[in-house]
Amino acid sequence: MTANLLDFDLEGLAAFCERLGHKRFRAVQLFRWIHQKGVARFWDMTDLARDLRARLAEVAEVRALPVLAEQVSADGTIKWLFDVGDGNAVESVFIPEDDRGTLCVSSQAGCAVGCRFCSTGHQGFSRNLTTGEIVAQLWHAEHALRRRLATSERVISNVVMMGMGEPLQNYAALAPALRVMLDDHGYGLSRRRVTVSTSGVVPMMERLAQDCPVALAVSLHAPDDALRDELVPLNRKYPLAELLDACLRYLPAAPRDFITFEYCMLDGVNDTPAHAERLIALLRGHRGRGVPCKVNLIPFNPFPQSGLRRSPREAVKAFADRLNAAGIVTTIRKTRGDDIDAACGQLAGEVRDRTRAAQRLARRRVVPLRVERGRSPAPEVAS
Ligand code: SAH
Ligand code: SF4
Repeated sequence: MTANLLDFDLEGLAAFCERLGHKRFRAVQLFRWIHQKGVARFWDMTDLARDLRARLAEVAEVRALPVLAEQVSADGTIKWLFDVGDGNAVESVFIPEDDRGTLCVSSQAGCAVGCRFCSTGHQGFSRNLTTGEIVAQLWHAEHALRRRLATSERVISNVVMMGMGEPLQNYAALAPALRVMLDDHGYGLSRRRVTVSTSGVVPMMERLAQDCPVALAVSLHAPDDALRDELVPLNRKYPLAELLDACLRYLPAAPRDFITFEYCMLDGVNDTPAHAERLIALLRGHRGRGVPCKVNLIPFNPFPQSGLRRSPREAVKAFADRLNAAGIVTTIRKTRGDDIDAACGQLAGEVRDRTRAAQRLARRRVVPLRVERGRSPAPEVAS
């Protein structure tokens, strides 16, 4: 089978060139052709020695992902659906803003964590993406956008690993992909502008801090273990105290001096003033010193079968106001691309579920409660 050069970080590509009997520095040229210029055909890489080009054509390829669909939202957001074979497809979303272009990238076909409020989680899990499949999303988006905008300037300035899948449950493929994004000969993105979002895979947070510290976002969604156990099942394995300890250990290596906590606002489930107070107590009180953080509230994006509702605007605003008043910088995420189902948690792609998670989740639903002020019960779980 031919090697997919998108699978390699620069070090891996250097080793590959060496195996072909060529000097390591050739890899820098090759890497730049692929990632900086978006060239896939070896014959077009004109400053590479002819014998290397010929050899590469025999044994290697730059394997792009077939695009099954592209949708453009009224707000300029673009969503691509990529075929990853065997009936699986994953999505990436480009979000243009005045001062940046962000690509939201998928790490798995489906997700095994199974969060209640997430459309990917409801689909179950098929398989991990390879490094090449993660990188191919950026490769395609960056170069397709440059062609469209007729520019040779970089279009994508930020990557968020917030598409389908739990990136830290696919660490072996993720780490080299991040290095390609950060490499000056690759996409040259700043560590502060590459964000890994995790539902809290504690041991892999440590690995990330050691190998490739980038900005970290942690999906919290609940201020206590009882509620988080229901919303993010991984909490039963890595409860909040351990998760927050892992955040504190991540910070010294992190490119930013805070952790971003994501909190999806679910009507009557986690959005009351009492929840806000408990969240403040948790984040400011952990280990007696608190966790340096920002909170990003994500209004829930509904999808069929979730059985959940988005919190009313006033509830989201009031929640943010309380946190801000307590000194926790809190923002409300703007919903982008929801007319093309490209908003957070709406990415569904196509997943051949191998875990029967979809069936399990369909049986158990979090029933939204109208919670009285001051009380904070765990939600009821219907079977
Ligand atoms: N698995 C990782 C990254 C992918 S999900 C994680 O969970 O962090 C990216 C973000 O979208 C997470 O914060 C997730 O909680 C949020 N999300 C999932 N479903 C959502 C929905 N239906 N509405 C709003 N946000 C959602
Ligand atoms: Fe997986 Fe993240 Fe969705 Fe949870 S929110 S099911 S971890 S993709």
